[in-house]
Amino acid sequence: MIKRFIRRVLGLGSAATLRVPREKHRLARAAISQGALKTCDGLRGAGFAAYVVGGAVRDLLLGIEPKDFDVATDARPEQVKPLFRRALLIGRRFRLVHVMVGQETVEVSTFRAADPETAEKNEHGRVLRDNVFGSQEEDARRRDFTVNALYFDPATEEIVDYHGGLADLRKRVLRMIGDPETRFREDPIRMLRAVRLGAKLGLTLDPATRAPIRELAPLLEMVPPARLFDEMLKLLLSGHASACLRQLREDGLHHGLLPLLDVILEQPLGERFVTLALAQTDERVRTDRPVSPAFLFAALLWHEVLAAWKARQGRSERPLPALESAMDDVLNAQCEKLAITRKLTATMREVWSMQPRFEQRAGQRPYRLIESPRFRMGYDFLALRAASGEVSADVEAWWRAFQQADAETRKAMLMPETAPKTRRRRRRKKPPSADTPQTP
Ligand code: ATP
Ligand code: MG
Repeated sequence: MIKRFIRRVLGLGSAATLRVPREKHRLARAAISQGALKTCDGLRGAGFAAYVVGGAVRDLLLGIEPKDFDVATDARPEQVKPLFRRALLIGRRFRLVHVMVGQETVEVSTFRAADPETAEKNEHGRVLRDNVFGSQEEDARRRDFTVNALYFDPATEEIVDYHGGLADLRKRVLRMIGDPETRFREDPIRMLRAVRLGAKLGLTLDPATRAPIRELAPLLEMVPPARLFDEMLKLLLSGHASACLRQLREDGLHHGLLPLLDVILEQPLGERFVTLALAQTDERVRTDRPVSPAFLFAALLWHEVLAAWKARQGRSERPLPALESAMDDVLNAQCEKLAITRKLTATMREVWSMQPRFEQRAGQRPYRLIESPRFRMGYDFLALRAASGEVSADVEAWWRAFQQADAETRKAMLMPETAPKTRRRRRRKKPPSADTPQTP
C-alpha cells in the first residue's frame, strides 16, 4: 500500500497496478457509443491497445452525456487508417485519424509523450511543439487534469488511472497533473479550460491548481488568437457562460480575452445587457436549441460599439457613417487578440447596423427591414436591448406586433412620415439658384 503510494507520487505506477475493475467505477461497455466501440474493437483485433479516453470517460462517470468520443491507442496513425473503411489522416502537427462510423466521427490519437526536456518552448515556458509518440503512461502525464487522464478499456471494462482521477471525480475536484505553474506556462489555455470544465462539470478547482492562475493570467496574451477564439467559443457555448465569465473575472482572466469587457461590465446598462445575453444563451444551450456565436459576440461587444458610436457623433460625425466606423474600431481592437472569424464579423455587422433602422417606423422602411435575411436575429437583438432598458419597450412591442400583423393592420400601424418633409421644407428655404429648376 505504502509502496504503491510512493510509486504514484513519483509517477512510477505501472499500468497493471492502476487498472481499476468495473465493480469499483461502474462504467460499462454499453455506455460507449457504437462508433467508439467499433473503433476500439477493430484496433484490438489487429493486436493494438485501444481505450476511450479524456472528456467522454470523465463525462460518463459524472452522468453527463459526452459530446464526442476520443480513442487513444499504441498504433501509429498509418497503422490505424487501413483498419477502417472510412478513415482520414488529419492534422499537420499531431497526426490523428478520424474514423467514421455511420454519422459518428471518432478521433483516434496515438499515445504521445510531452517530454518537458526536449519539447520546444518559448521564453515563458509555453510549449511550441511536442510531437513524440510515447507510452500510455507518458500520454497520461501530458494531459491537463487528473479527471481527463482516465482510460476506459471496452474489452475488459477496466479504467486505467495513473493520476488518481477517479478519486478526484468522487471528491468533485479538478486537479492539474504535475506542477500547476509549469503546466499553465506550457499552455496558458489550460487556465481557461480550468474555468470552463469547473463550471460545466460542477467541480471545484483544487487550491494548489488555482493558486498560480492570477499571476499567470497575462500569459494568455501570448496565445495565438485563433486558439483563444476557439476556447472562448467553447466557453461561451458551454451552457455555463454566465458562471464562467463570473469566474474569469474573479481570477483576473478576462482582461486579455475581450479587451475592455471589464469596462463594459462596470457600466450598469452594459452589465445588464451582457448578463441577459449570456443567461439567454445558457438557457438555449441547455434546452438543445440552436445558438448563434455571431449573435453572442455581437451582444458582448455592443456596448463597446455604442460607446465608440457616441464618441464619434460627439465629434459631429453623421450617425450612420459614425456607426460604420465605430464597428470598425471595435472589431479591429478585438481581432488583434481574438481571431473572430470573418463569417462571424460579417453577421455581427449586419445585426449592429440594423439597430438604428428599428427606429424608423414610417413609409416603406419597416417592410424592407422585415424582409432582410437577418431580420430575426436583428429583432432578437433589439428585444435584448429593450429588456436591458437601453431602448424603449414600446419600440420592441411595436416590432413584435408588426411581424405578426396582417397587411391591413400593418398599414394602420405605420407612423406618419416626418423626417423627409422637414428636409424638403428646409430645401425650399434655400434661395433659388439659376441652374437648378424648382419643383412647384
Ligand atoms: P470537452 O470535450 O467537454 O470540451 P475535453 O476535456 O474532452 O472537454 P478536448 O479539447 O476534447 O476537451 O480534449 C480531449 C482531451 O485532451 C482532454 O480530456 C485532455 O485529456 C486532453 N487535452 C485537451 N486540451 C489539453 C491541453 N491544453 N493540455 C493538456 N491536455 C489537453
Ligand atoms: Mg472532448
